Amino acid sequence: MQFASTRNDCPAVSLSAALAAGLAPDGGLYVPATLPRRTLAEFEGAESLTAVSERLLAPFFAGDPLESSLGEIIREAFDFDIELRGLHSPRSFSLELFHGPTSAFKDFGARFLAACLSRITRGAPLTVLVATSGDTGSAVASAFHLRAGFRVAVLYPDGLVSPRQAHQLGAFGDNVHAYRVAGTFDDCQRMVKEALVDRGLGAEVALTSANSISLGRLLPQMAYYAWASLTHRRAHGEDLGFVVPTGNLGNALAAILCREMGLPIAGVVLATNANRVLADFFEGAAYSGRASVPTLANAMDVGSPSNFERLRWLIPDEATLRATFRVDVSSDQRLRAAIAEAASVEGVTLCPHTAAAYATLRALRSEGDEGPYAIVATAHPAKFESVVEAVLDQEVTLPVALARTLARPARAEPLPASTAALIERLRNPARFD
Ligand SMILES: *Cc1c(COP(=O)(O)O)cnc(C)c1O
Repeated sequence: MQFASTRNDCPAVSLSAALAAGLAPDGGLYVPATLPRRTLAEFEGAESLTAVSERLLAPFFAGDPLESSLGEIIREAFDFDIELRGLHSPRSFSLELFHGPTSAFKDFGARFLAACLSRITRGAPLTVLVATSGDTGSAVASAFHLRAGFRVAVLYPDGLVSPRQAHQLGAFGDNVHAYRVAGTFDDCQRMVKEALVDRGLGAEVALTSANSISLGRLLPQMAYYAWASLTHRRAHGEDLGFVVPTGNLGNALAAILCREMGLPIAGVVLATNANRVLADFFEGAAYSGRASVPTLANAMDVGSPSNFERLRWLIPDEATLRATFRVDVSSDQRLRAAIAEAASVEGVTLCPHTAAAYATLRALRSEGDEGPYAIVATAHPAKFESVVEAVLDQEVTLPVALARTLARPARAEPLPASTAALIERLRNPARFD
């Protein structure tokens, strides 16, 4: 299979080339030239996440040098648990994606990307740039930590991630360098995008991105929607809907693509925090990226969701696009109420992002929607203990891997919100290492 740019202004490339590049040379995002259709029969006998993933992703790997390694890549990347947990309310589930090493769903994409890239570069030097609103950075750092040939530069908005997230980001060291940027996540994202297309830097330093613009994160995220929807279909004979906490639109887009491929997925509903950019568009306004506003669900504080460009590629007609999805907005107050309600009604402790999905599910129920839905649980609540513990007035138990990271010392270098400053650091290995 070949991969084209959403902007269609550069040649289509192989999977390996698209993975290595991160961003397409015309500034667009790589998408599959055609979206393969899968039938349920093609998944017969595939029950585990790894078995489902291999069958789902095989067409994307066809003809690529990585084709024969797909099974190995999946087993290496997805070496942690996933759960589709029933909630107390009828026909309501939680798809728990936070059992990986950094306790957020970003581990799926980051570990898969690292497993692919290490087989492409085979030890040749490559610098991985990543802007993070909190969880991507640690997932990418963890996935590439101490891998031969790689160095990782993580940019996060200083003061706008949770204290535990900040500690996690600075705790890796070795080939991972954390920068705390005097700006917002959107500044970090812009700096990474500009550095990636800087010709001078590109001539000196081999660069790629591990942000949700990377195809290597989108593909593995499709796998868990396939697994969850097939698991539900086999048990209950019906299609499962998903309510997805949404910021940069990477996770929700994976669900949408998976449904387009023919997996048994009912509706996909997008749950956002007070950053209204998607909600305003779906309510009929022209799309316009804007500054992000800080909320309790900080990993979703995105004013200009980079994957919107992929959504437009998938469904170019605006009226059709608006009719296909629903976006529901939660204020901080509604997030707090949802955390409290989930604990008392469902017996589960949710992180503030997952709480947005739960608030949206409650809204759907109150409108009389009785369909089966899974909220997508994107992070472990212990990463956001300052919010969750204040609402519930009780301690949240730390997962073992997170406790281990938090016990290590952490260090991050301050950086102005300027692409030139970033480029200067990346160019000068002495300053970097
Ligand atoms: C990244 C993140 C999100 C948002 O996912 P997108 O793919 O950017 O829409 C939601 N919740 C958590 C915990 C995250 O880390």
